[in-house]
Amino acid sequence: MTSMTNDNSGDVRLSGMSKTYGSFTAVHPLDLTVPQGSFFALLGASGCGKTTTLRMIAGLEEPTSGNVSLGDQDVTNLPPYKRPVNTVFQSYALFPHLDIFENVAFGLRRRGIKSVKKQVGEMLDLVQLGEQARKKPHQLSGGQQQRVAVARALINHPKVLLLDEPLGALDLKLRRQMQLELKRIQTEVGITFIHVTHDQEEAMTMADTVAVMNAGRVEQLGSPADLYENPQTTFVANFLGTSNLIEAEVDTKSGDEIVLRAGGGKLSLPAARCSAPTTTGGKVLVGVRPEKISLTHAEDAGGIPEDRNRITGKIADSSFIGVSTQYVIDSPVCPEFEVYAQNIDRDARLVPGAEVVLHWSPAHTFGLDATQD
Ligand code: ATP
Repeated sequence: MTSMTNDNSGDVRLSGMSKTYGSFTAVHPLDLTVPQGSFFALLGASGCGKTTTLRMIAGLEEPTSGNVSLGDQDVTNLPPYKRPVNTVFQSYALFPHLDIFENVAFGLRRRGIKSVKKQVGEMLDLVQLGEQARKKPHQLSGGQQQRVAVARALINHPKVLLLDEPLGALDLKLRRQMQLELKRIQTEVGITFIHVTHDQEEAMTMADTVAVMNAGRVEQLGSPADLYENPQTTFVANFLGTSNLIEAEVDTKSGDEIVLRAGGGKLSLPAARCSAPTTTGGKVLVGVRPEKISLTHAEDAGGIPEDRNRITGKIADSSFIGVSTQYVIDSPVCPEFEVYAQNIDRDARLVPGAEVVLHWSPAHTFGLDATQD
């Protein structure tokens, strides 16, 4: 199937859209544009407001303030069925007494369309269930039922498909398969998908843009790689993968480089990778992802290139996890944190108790505001 649309009719624009329940603000005024054809994820912990946001786009929840536009049309006051949007829920919501074909045909029949065979056949092929058309939902696996729900939601050619934790009921292996499957379907139909999940790996695998939500606000928006490499807040740094955060103080700022003091040593990072104020003496949390760190036994520290950031520590624990060994390091510069280092060349001396130097490139270092929560 070719792309269903190549215009901007699948752009989703939220302007100052908010939701309050009594005195509680579930979603603070939100400005967000999701471009036509993107696979967009709203990611956050339970209760952060992602489902409420999705339901306001669908028209299932009325915003307290602000507007929702699809393409050039302001749909804020349109009921759900008049919006070119459909939603797939975690519960699938299939009709148990209808077979798969009739479940998918439902939206067409409701619009009075009589000859549905070709369209339903195409949809079932899209979700690779052509052979299952005459089965009832209970005769299918969870993953297959979810694909029926997707086919049923796509049959009326919505401009935007909303997915609310659609894989939440599946076991881990099936979830992984369905992540790739949904991505393939989205690429094939070419419409905008907005996917709500609390699972960071799921969002990173599927989406081209991820909005990380926290307490009713979007904390950061970007590609999965950008969010991972350049987190702007401690929440994002900790929510997406493991971060090592070191308390430091700004020493100097010269051109594109910021030098910080941590313990007795110095750390350096590019100014563009620091989201904290950089006045001299200011507190910054210096972050580095575990897989960017190299670990060298203290006896060999002389061989570490000058331009690397480094901290000293002692191995507290190590565990072999197949592709790599994960180390927990105690270090005086991060008293409240442990440092995990992976992908280390085997060195028989790297055992608990060993004095080590952790080192990494300044380019893989980010700086966060130490005063935020
Ligand atoms: P989950 O993953 O658990 O569904 P979520 O991020 O989707 O979480 P929402 O369902 O959007 O969160 O809810 C956001 C907040 O708004 C929650 O604290 C929730 O308790 C509250 N909330 C949602 N609906 C209502 C309602 N009808 N009345 C009062 N509070 C509500």
